[in-house]
Amino acid sequence: MRVGMPHMGNLYIPFKALFQRLKVDFVIPPVSNQRTLSLGARYSPEGLCIPFKMTLGNLIEAAEMGANTLLMPGGDGICRLGYYTKVQEQILHELGYNVEIIQLGVSEHKFAGLLGIIKRVSNNAPWPRIISAFRFGLAKLNSLDTIERLVQKVRPVELVKGTANQLYAQAVRAIDKAEDYNLLKKVKKDYVSQLNRVTRNSQARPLVVGITGELFVLLEPFSSFDVERELGKMGVEVRRSTFLSEWTKFSLFLNPLGINEKDRIHKAALPYLKRDIGGDGWESVGEKVLHAGEYDGLVHLAPFTCMPEIIAQNIMPSTREKIPVLTILCDEQIAKPGILTRLEAFVDLLQRKRRAEENNNQRVAI
Ligand code: SF4
Repeated sequence: MRVGMPHMGNLYIPFKALFQRLKVDFVIPPVSNQRTLSLGARYSPEGLCIPFKMTLGNLIEAAEMGANTLLMPGGDGICRLGYYTKVQEQILHELGYNVEIIQLGVSEHKFAGLLGIIKRVSNNAPWPRIISAFRFGLAKLNSLDTIERLVQKVRPVELVKGTANQLYAQAVRAIDKAEDYNLLKKVKKDYVSQLNRVTRNSQARPLVVGITGELFVLLEPFSSFDVERELGKMGVEVRRSTFLSEWTKFSLFLNPLGINEKDRIHKAALPYLKRDIGGDGWESVGEKVLHAGEYDGLVHLAPFTCMPEIIAQNIMPSTREKIPVLTILCDEQIAKPGILTRLEAFVDLLQRKRRAEENNNQRVAI
């Protein structure tokens, strides 16, 4: 059995660690790129959302590399995500690939469901080995997210532009290579310390911009034009509340115990939206309401034709909590230069707004 799965940010790293320890033949398709998107768009039904196209492109690439068992995150949600696996499997069969797609329905079957799938693809590995391998994968995920959070803080204030990105790329490679807990701990400590030592502009007061929207485009930089990095280059501190390690911790372990990290955010959205609308639409509205007082602005990432995010986009202007929102529709028809121009204009608007508020405050003080 050769196992493959699509990309979503750095998710392949913990899965690679898990499968290496279980001696599963794991195929990693190339990091998402223009070919992935072109392949996905060419074989997708018209009008489907970009997560479908990107993951289909990855699955085709994995099948080209010989994978015959493909793991695909999915679910029974309100939007079309529930149909992904079946449709993608049919497309792959029509293209001549003799593959099986196993749906990772993490949100329904939780930890036990995921372990059952790992047991199956690992040819019935013993439970203690599966649990130990799973824990090591989680440790890698935690380390990756710790480093990424720090990079988000350093990027906008570093004196030599690009330093944090370089360190981040090195850290990701080193975490991927770390073969045991000691090495992993050492790598994490080393890169945290290097990032903390990056020379910063002490005068900088970066704008703070939140990033919200649909999970896949939030976590897969290629599909969202790498907006976080681009904002960082423009001297903006980006805050994102969704990280894979947190999401895994809650989805697999804490949600089944009745602890829902999203309660606060749903409550914030309630005056404007009273129920789940699928995907992450409810959360997008809640994020705006909850953080309007903390952020200078919000970038809302929405796959083109994504029903939940279209609803969220239409509700956002009517909330009492006012904060500028830039919605970016992610799709293969949209070119990055156009997105950069919009980001620059948005940052310019936020800077003017901040200056105007500071001038007003000074006048009041006089
Ligand atoms: S949430 Fe939106 S982008 Fe994600 S699968 Fe559903 S419709 Fe597609």
